[in-house]
Amino acid sequence: MDAHKTTLLIVGGGPGGYVAAIRAAQLGITTTLVEGAGVGGTCLNVGCIPSKAMIHAADAFHQARHFMGDGTLGIQVQDAQIDLAQTVRWKDGVVARLTGGVGALLKKHGVRLLKGRAHIVDGKTVDVSGLRAQAQSVRIQCEHLLLATGSQELDLPGLPLGGKVIGSAQALSPERVPVSLVVVGGGYIGLELGTVYRKLGTDVTVVEAKGRVLPMYDEALTNPVALSLRRLGVKLMLDTQVRGLDDQGRLRLQDAAGRESVLTADQVLVAVGRVPNTHGWGLEKLMLNMDGAAVKIDECCRTSMRNVWAIGDLTGEPMLAHRAMAQGQMVAEIIAGHCRHFAPACIAAVCFTDPEVVVAGLRPDTAQSQALDVVHAEFPLTANGRALTLASTDGFVRVVARRDNHLILGWQAVGVGTSELAAAFAQSLEMGACLEDVAHTIHVHPTLGEAVQEAALRALGQGLHI
Ligand code: FAD
Ligand code: NAD
Repeated sequence: MDAHKTTLLIVGGGPGGYVAAIRAAQLGITTTLVEGAGVGGTCLNVGCIPSKAMIHAADAFHQARHFMGDGTLGIQVQDAQIDLAQTVRWKDGVVARLTGGVGALLKKHGVRLLKGRAHIVDGKTVDVSGLRAQAQSVRIQCEHLLLATGSQELDLPGLPLGGKVIGSAQALSPERVPVSLVVVGGGYIGLELGTVYRKLGTDVTVVEAKGRVLPMYDEALTNPVALSLRRLGVKLMLDTQVRGLDDQGRLRLQDAAGRESVLTADQVLVAVGRVPNTHGWGLEKLMLNMDGAAVKIDECCRTSMRNVWAIGDLTGEPMLAHRAMAQGQMVAEIIAGHCRHFAPACIAAVCFTDPEVVVAGLRPDTAQSQALDVVHAEFPLTANGRALTLASTDGFVRVVARRDNHLILGWQAVGVGTSELAAAFAQSLEMGACLEDVAHTIHVHPTLGEAVQEAALRALGQGLHI
């Protein structure tokens, strides 16, 4: 068996692993990255990027079809058609461009990329198999081992993937527009992809175990999303659990009162969460401390074993690409001798539904549960000029701040294009802004950003446009 030595060995080339590799190499650390599928990981290949591309394409098609029957904007479209194979090719092109870019960056910085499957031998030794043009495994010895193997789709017992039951990766490359689709789970993936299929023309039903969609957010935030889904024609079955398939291939459902029913569909998309990728690659040999199904880490992403680090989805919630990247960058810098730890003021999250939902920091209810005395204010998009010009006024921007010194603790928004407000939200929280800082910043007119300023003004009792 061939053997190699490296200072840093990274297992997994998703956003966590590839960012760690680039940063480590920039800092002069000899770095080897092992990736078993495609660089870019879930995010670039079968997650964030392809889903947002399909959301855009489906929305463009939906808009064109909407204009066919609606003269409000004075636009007439004679016949809107979609060539799904071309749409998927375009989406694949976006993915290829980004994954190619990551490959080029790794090369430029001198990262050694091994396209094969890593298997842990011990905390300093990893075997890599399945390498192209190499029959045998390669043994790598390292000083630091960074685990970044991400997560995988959670299976529902009684509903294994296969045939008409698909997961998110398959749903992102449709060969045809199904007549009907049942989406199991009204969380991030279920709603983002359920909306895609509805806008492509599929009859979509979302079955959600909890009492509302996106149950991790507060109701005021999710109401405009539920309303918009219903307007689109998506059927929502709430407080209902999917139990599996019956022998005729129908979905078995159970509502909160225990009543059972069945549902038929052309296709079923299972989107009930993701689990850290901890099995099948020898991780158990390290006997690391675990936090439920995730690898337990401290504020520097150290595991319970010296010089073994873990980042990203492997370490549990929030399973977000930008968290994985920030952790990867930090670990590389710590290994290079920098004084760093992971203590972000917030990790903002966006659900790319229609309308989009953004959350950053504390909500009024989460602040109160921490016994914080807060003020909060909402500015509705009905009073925002930009939202009116976009013909989409459902939603609001909300700010949460300490009552005594007006330190901003959180932002939430729901509405068209509000994902782009996430940067302003995260910056104000990270920089310790007070309501006055935002309220007295001149915001460009007409933009959605004015709703951010107006929310801060309202919280100070100085609202101008409402
Ligand atoms: P991953 O991206 O999962 O990468 C892990 C890599 O490790 C994989 O490439 C895998 O092949 C490799 N690997 C695993 N085991 C081995 C082994 N033994 N040997 C070699 N290689 C191995 N997050 C957002 O922030 N925004 C979004 O809009 C968003 N949308 C999403 C949409 C969908 C449909 C999905 C499924 C996820 C989405 N996410 C989104 C979540 C995001 O994709 C993840 O949080 C992110 O990819 C985690 O990065 P990671 O580096 O931890 O792991
Ligand atoms: P999720 O946790 O967001 O939603 C899963 C939903 O399924 C929950 O609402 C849950 O109540 C429901 N559920 C569970 N079992 C059920 C059953 N038997 N019947 C009916 N409903 C059931 O999970 P997800 O949508 O699969 O996404 C996984 C992770 O991927 C997310 O936590 C997120 O971190 C990441 N992600 C992020 C984005 C983004 O940032 N825009 C997009 C997609 C995915």
